[in-house]
Amino acid sequence: MCLVCDAEHWSCGPSRRGFFQGWGAGAACAFLASAGAMTPSIAFAKNQKAPPKPQNAVSPEAALALLMAGNARYVEGVAKRHDFRHEREPLTKGQNPYAAVLSCADSRIAPEYAFDAGRGDLFVCRVAGNFANDDVIASLEYAVAVLDTPLIMVLGHEACGAIDATIKSLKDNTTLPGHLPSLVAALAPAVKASEGESGDPLANAIRQNVILNVEKLKGAAPILKAKADEKKLNVVGATYRLTDGHVALVT
Ligand SMILES: [Zn+2]
Repeated sequence: MCLVCDAEHWSCGPSRRGFFQGWGAGAACAFLASAGAMTPSIAFAKNQKAPPKPQNAVSPEAALALLMAGNARYVEGVAKRHDFRHEREPLTKGQNPYAAVLSCADSRIAPEYAFDAGRGDLFVCRVAGNFANDDVIASLEYAVAVLDTPLIMVLGHEACGAIDATIKSLKDNTTLPGHLPSLVAALAPAVKASEGESGDPLANAIRQNVILNVEKLKGAAPILKAKADEKKLNVVGATYRLTDGHVALVT
């Protein structure tokens, strides 16, 4: 018997009860079910409440169209007015973002601005170099499995300092201070995979890093891979141009 939702399945467990507080019991168990904690054939309760933003309940294709249309408004300087006063009340009841974005932590890249999105529209994970480690994948699993987010975009950007530092560290065989070597280790595969390509090494590594992380997320079993295989989730890659804010798809 589940201790959280009283269903006849593997217990969510006392240690998880605090963790899932605020998710809603049904959503928490849905997450565990999707995570493979239960036999897939066992039914689980899903939060049946109406989503706070019904307009965000869209297909993966429509979600991508929303992102790109929002970016076009941002580039043209015709962004919408996002009035939090009217969004505040429904968003106290939950969230249903139409897209998740894995972005660099770079202060010049602000996904909500770049896609002209409001509160509750985007589930954003940010780390220097926009790569997917276990913590990022877990966050995205929550977005996809619990919040039904149909699209993940890995968003690289022009002149990424994290990737530039990785290129230099590998080239000079130097060890960066503090915890920075962990970033280098995460970004090194993209730098190495793009070696030998013609053109700008930094731009090539930025693009390759997006491609590798899209592949990683698409193949992240059990949750993201299953959703992608069912066509309920699309994972795309893109890069952000600093000069005008334009986002271009690369995968
Ligand atoms: Zn960056």
